[in-house]
This record gives sequence, C-alpha cells and structure tokens, in this order.
Amino acid sequence: MSPQPPLSVGHKILTGDRATGQLHLGHYVGSLQQRVALQAHNDQTILVADMQGLTDNGNTPAKVAGNILNVVADYLAAGIDPSQTTICLQSGLPALAELTMFYSNLVTIARLERNPTVKNEIQGKGFGRSIPAGFLTYPISQAADITAFQATLIPVGDDQLPMLEQTNEIVRKINSLAGKPILTECQPMLSNMPRLPSVDGKAKMSKSLGNAITLDASDADIAKAVKAMYTDPNHLTVDAPGQVEGNVVFTYLDAFYPDPAFVESLKAHYRRGGLGDGKTKAILTECLQAMIAPMREKRQALIADKQYLIDVLKAGTEKAREESSQTLTQVKQAFGLNIF
Ligand code: ATP
Ligand code: MG
Repeated sequence: MSPQPPLSVGHKILTGDRATGQLHLGHYVGSLQQRVALQAHNDQTILVADMQGLTDNGNTPAKVAGNILNVVADYLAAGIDPSQTTICLQSGLPALAELTMFYSNLVTIARLERNPTVKNEIQGKGFGRSIPAGFLTYPISQAADITAFQATLIPVGDDQLPMLEQTNEIVRKINSLAGKPILTECQPMLSNMPRLPSVDGKAKMSKSLGNAITLDASDADIAKAVKAMYTDPNHLTVDAPGQVEGNVVFTYLDAFYPDPAFVESLKAHYRRGGLGDGKTKAILTECLQAMIAPMREKRQALIADKQYLIDVLKAGTEKAREESSQTLTQVKQAFGLNIF
C-alpha cells in the first residue's frame, strides 16, 4: 500500500492515540499537525483508544485511566478544535467491541502473527509466550475503529501501515459477504516524518518506551533531551567533517525547523567541517523550546479544568456512538443476524 499524496478535502478521517501516556513530538509531527490542518475541510473523528491501551496494560489499568484526559488536553493544546473534530472515547462506543467480535471470525491467528508491527512490539515488550489475546488481536479492533466511521483517510505514522492493510482485508471480506460494498477501504496519509526516532536514535519515539519529549516538556527537559541526542560518533572535533545521515539532531531539524533552506546550509557546513555539535544542538534546542512553549502553556490551563475536558469527550462520544452503531447494523446484516 503506497502512501497517498496530501489530499485534503471531503474525506472521512479517523485517527486515534492509545491512552498510555502524554502525547509527544512523534505524534505531533507524525499525525497531529496533519489532523489540525485537515479538520476544517474534512469530517474528522479522533478516538482516545483506552481499550487498545489496555491490551498491554491489563494488570496496570490505572495507567490507561489516568491518561485519558491527558490525551484530550494534548489534542486541544496542539490545535484540535472540538467544534470541527469529534473527539471520542473508545470504551464509550460499544459498537466497536461488537464489530471486533464479528471481524475476529474472518482473521486467522497466523495472519495476526505475521503483522510486522505487532511482531516487533511483542518482542520489545518481552511477552514471550504470554501474549495477551487482546494484544495479538488489536489490529482487528483497529479495523473496527476505522470501519465504524467509514473512514477513507488515516493520517498516521508508518508503524500503522500494517494495520491499515489488515483493515482493508477485512473490509473486502465483509463486502464480499454482504454482496455489496457496505464498508469503505481506507488510505494512509503519511507525513514527511512518518517515524520520528527517539533521542538515542535507536527506536521510534514512543510513550511506552519512556524515550519521549512530551508536548508539555519544560525548556530544561528539552535542553537535556537535545544534549543527549545521538550525533555522528566519528565527528570528534569541530573542524572535522561530520555525517548528517543518521544524526538525530539533523533528523529533528528536518522535522521541526521552520526554514528548510537554513537546515540545508547547516548540513553543508557540517559535512565540510567547522560546525560543532554544540552549535547544531543549540539551534535545535531553541527551535523546540519556541515550538513547545505555547502548547505547554495552553495545556496547563486545560488540564486545570478537568470538567471541560470531560464535557468535550462526552459530547464527542455521544455523537460517535450514533455513527458507529449504524455501521454495526450493516455488518450484522452482512452476517444475516438482523433478526430483530
Ligand atoms: P505506545 O508506546 O503506547 O504504543 P505510541 O507513542 O506508539 O504509544 P500511539 O498511541 O501508539 O503512540 O500512536 C498514535 C499515533 O501516533 C499513530 O498514528 C502512530 O503512528 C503515531 N506515532 C507514534 N509515535 C510516532 C513517531 N515516533 N513518529 C511518527 N508517528 C508516530
Ligand atoms: Mg504505539
């Protein structure tokens, strides 16, 4: 499945984030920025995926429950406007759980075990043979989320591409059972930084790996994270030529610095020698601090008004409940189970 060019009008958009921690710069550049840009001219729903968060936190549910409003605050601080985007809670939408059960009958265990993202995550989390059933099957629940809203466009990071492939396989099976197209296939929309690495450059920035720069990071947190960033280990003196590829500071400058021509000039200087890591890190630190400061301030005000966040989520969930239950009715019909 190849990523689509930025289409921006008239789509049904569905994205979501697991309620497993505060959102971070990976979310911002991989998906959130696009959601903010898309919301005015598309029909957008965003799901706070608390049930998916439980798939690897069954014994630590407080981690999920305690992060639901954090994620809502992050959305609003990043510029998601609840008058344009429906923000809803996965556990408040029973149709999603029912769709998951129906779809589970169309997907084999072998197919689930082949999903490369799930495979990596299972290894990373050290489940061994003790994989929670909900974790192995979360791509099915994601298919339920996407299809429940008949979403056509999904702005995501590249770790989600295998999920969208599996979703479209399920869509085709259901449509074939129904004998007509009742569900819509979806397309990914990747940003120009579909996988922001962690500061050490080893993994993707991720809530669960504890390697993230959050959207409310303080100036000091940001400075500390950038100071620890992996650069070119062979760039031993300022005068020596340095390597830009794999140098996390440049990856971040590409992702966040507002003037790409300036970043290109920095790269050329670094490559020919004479530009120290202290200087490139100072430029990046200042850039991230300026970008995060307004979000951090907005977020602090939002998180102090929990009732407002709950009201936003409740209103969005009620709207989404109606929409998702319509899809469930159609899927039940495809299985011939519309007895009542
Ligand atoms: P967890 O570690 O709990 O899985 P996460 O940091 O991976 O959390 P998710 O909630 O799983 O975040 O992902 C939500 C969305 O953000 C997905 O579309 C995902 O592709 C995107 N995303 C997450 N991390 C990154 C990243 N480092 N770079 C680009 N996109 C990302
Ligand atoms: Mg994830």
